[in-house]
Amino acid sequence: MQIRFTDILAARARLAGTALGTPMVPSTALQARLGHPVWHKLELCQPTGAFKLRGAMNAISRLGPDAQGVTCASTGNHGRAVAWAAKARGLRAVVCLSSLVPRAKVEGIRALGAEIRTIGRSQDDAQAEVDRLVAEEGLAEIPPFDHPDIIAGQGTIGLEMLEAVPDLTTLLVPLSGGGLAAGVALAAKTLAPDIRVIGISMDRGAAMDESLRAGHPVPVEEVASLADSLGGGIGATNRHSFALCRDLLDEVVLLTEDEIYRGIQSAFHDERLVAEGGAAVGIAALLAGKVALDGPAATILTGRNADMDQIARIVAGQSVTVGDRSIDGGPYEP
Ligand SMILES: *Cc1c(COP(=O)(O)O)cnc(C)c1O
Repeated sequence: MQIRFTDILAARARLAGTALGTPMVPSTALQARLGHPVWHKLELCQPTGAFKLRGAMNAISRLGPDAQGVTCASTGNHGRAVAWAAKARGLRAVVCLSSLVPRAKVEGIRALGAEIRTIGRSQDDAQAEVDRLVAEEGLAEIPPFDHPDIIAGQGTIGLEMLEAVPDLTTLLVPLSGGGLAAGVALAAKTLAPDIRVIGISMDRGAAMDESLRAGHPVPVEEVASLADSLGGGIGATNRHSFALCRDLLDEVVLLTEDEIYRGIQSAFHDERLVAEGGAAVGIAALLAGKVALDGPAATILTGRNADMDQIARIVAGQSVTVGDRSIDGGPYEP
């Protein structure tokens, strides 16, 4: 099944009144530093704290009336979105997570009444449990990125961005499984064919980047990162998001943990926003000088479901531990 621009328009009509249309706000700090207008799309304002509500709501609203319940594998934010959307429809939700998912995200899912299964140390381990639940308990799988309804739901963000600021020349999109990047790029390039869409990931365990280089989906070793929501593979049998990212992304930029740390600091000190690591990568790429601008640009601040102790240390310039690594950090220098 192919995904078309009209699927994104249909998703927008379906989402009206559920997932929010979010603000686009200008960053005076980044404009002063970079010499071009920079906008932030505030997806962290969604009721679940991340954009994934769009795709999950779109997919779950398309289930038939005989649905028994839903299940998914998630790095946290998708699980919370599925839990929220399932609750709104009165459906059972079972969210399968690996042990790498931070506690703050697990608690957010539990608070919405979803059942949680923590299995293994990777998204692939969690996916094995999803496969079992689908086969043995008849639950409907709501995949985190590789599904037309998910991609169309996330694509509504691209529509809103170009409608708010039609002269954008560059979009900086956090990239993991690529559902967000695929949908946003399809919407944006339909409305503005010359726009540049750049995917941004962390420099270790960036599954889409490695797959694009290889020319086919490849497995990666999952590594702890400040951008925890960007971890996980793209699936060996990827059917949609890989091909769309291959065809529509102009470039992929990779960031060190220190660069992501600065991005989180800038979101807080320059914009007064709490952005989780995976959300701050657009800012981080600009601050690191890894994307040169030729006109107005926009990032997507995709989520705010960060561990608050970690955020407090980062905004104060203190060192943080991520997996087996220590990031020294330091005070933010505007
Ligand atoms: C899931 C997620 C992403 C990446 O989305 P994909 O569709 O998997 O590429 C980026 N930021 C946050 C906060 C997320 O939760």
